[in-house]
This record gives sequence, structure tokens and C-alpha cells, in this order.
Amino acid sequence: MQILALTLDLDDTLWPVLPALERADQAVDAWLRQHHPEVARAWPITAMRELRARVAAERLDLAHDFTTQRQLTLQQAFAACGVAAAPIEALWEIYFAARNCVELYPDSLPALERITARWPLASLTNGNADLQRIGIHAHFAHQVCARDSGVAKPDPRIFLVAAERLGVAPQQILHVGDDPAMDMAGARDAGLRTAWINRDARPWPPELGPPPELDLRDMTALVDWLEAQAPAAKGR
Ligand SMILES: [Mg+2]
Repeated sequence: MQILALTLDLDDTLWPVLPALERADQAVDAWLRQHHPEVARAWPITAMRELRARVAAERLDLAHDFTTQRQLTLQQAFAACGVAAAPIEALWEIYFAARNCVELYPDSLPALERITARWPLASLTNGNADLQRIGIHAHFAHQVCARDSGVAKPDPRIFLVAAERLGVAPQQILHVGDDPAMDMAGARDAGLRTAWINRDARPWPPELGPPPELDLRDMTALVDWLEAQAPAAKGR
């Protein structure tokens, strides 16, 4: 069946996310050391990460909302140091700015341009990347995130939210992403077609069931495949 639209994961599909998360943690730590040295001493980066993991484990109701998880983490870190009014807004802005300072893979932008010339595209992410700050929002007809949808990948419902926003049946949407469980198994279970951006050429984990329809090295390979399926109409 013809592909009429695409949904696209962001982190680790269009850019490597770990360097951005690392820089964001460091930016928060640097600000704390300057403005609240007692909090910085009590909560160095590794301790802050452990605290966030505890918050995530305790607040399963926030599994779809990394933003609130991180804000709660900061609140608890300050409270543990006896500071009731934590400067959450200032810290969040510092975190968020650094977190969105991503470096796209070299194939990402040319591929986005080729895709959006011919197919409607929706972003579909569990994370809190901000396409406007990153400067690529114009390529996306819709933005679907776990925080707004109330459910996170691999829950099929978030894929169906995207299908509804696109106005296209799930079986005519190709979901593109890097994560075997979140992206590929999730999209498959929701009835979407699946393209795995497998930059490290990893083997498909057999415990996740049937492999995705496409196993591709990068975004260029994806668009080459798409265009070969549906050659552009000849000019008049
Ligand atoms: Mg990803």
C-alpha cells in the first residue's frame, strides 16, 4: 500500500541526544555552583541523575512527561538543602536551551528537505526537544509528543494520535526511528509501517518479534527508498 505520510522520531534519529543531555546537565551544574553552591555540592551531576531516576521510578504517572520529572527532581534537590523556593524557571530555561543545542547528523537536513517536498511529516517523540528552538519546525506539519498526548511510545495510542492529526490511515504511514522497542515494535503494533534508522548496523533483537520492514543506515537511505517507491511525476 502506498505511503501517504511519515512520522519521525527525533532524538538519536536526527541527532545524537547524549551530547546534548550531557551539556544540559553541565550547564545546570555550572549555574548551581555559581548561584547555589550548597545545592551544587550536595547534588553533583551523578547524584542529580540518580535523583531523577528515583523520581522516574516513583512517579510512573509521569512516565510520559520528562519535563515534569526533571522539574520535580530540581525541586527535591533544593528542598533537601532546605531551600523551599527553588528557582525552577531559571534552571529549566538553562537546561532546555542546552538540551536543544543539538548537532544534526549530516544526512538529516537534506533528507528532511526531500521528504517534506513530497510527504506530510509529523514528529513523534517521548522527549522534550523543541523543534522551533532547533530551527527545523518548518519541516513538520504536526508535532506529537508524549507529554501532550498523555501516553508515550511504545503505546500504540500515541501513534494513532499522530495518524489522526495527519488524517491518514495507520497502514499508509511510515514510522521512522532508531529505537527497536519504542519506535519499531510500537509502530508495528499500532498498524503503521516501519523504517528503522540503524546507524550502528545492530542486529534486530529477536525478542521484539518480526523485524521492521526497512533496516536503513541513515536518513539518506530512507529518502532514496521512498523516492524509488514513488517516482516524482514528470514535469509538463
Ligand atoms: Mg530516538
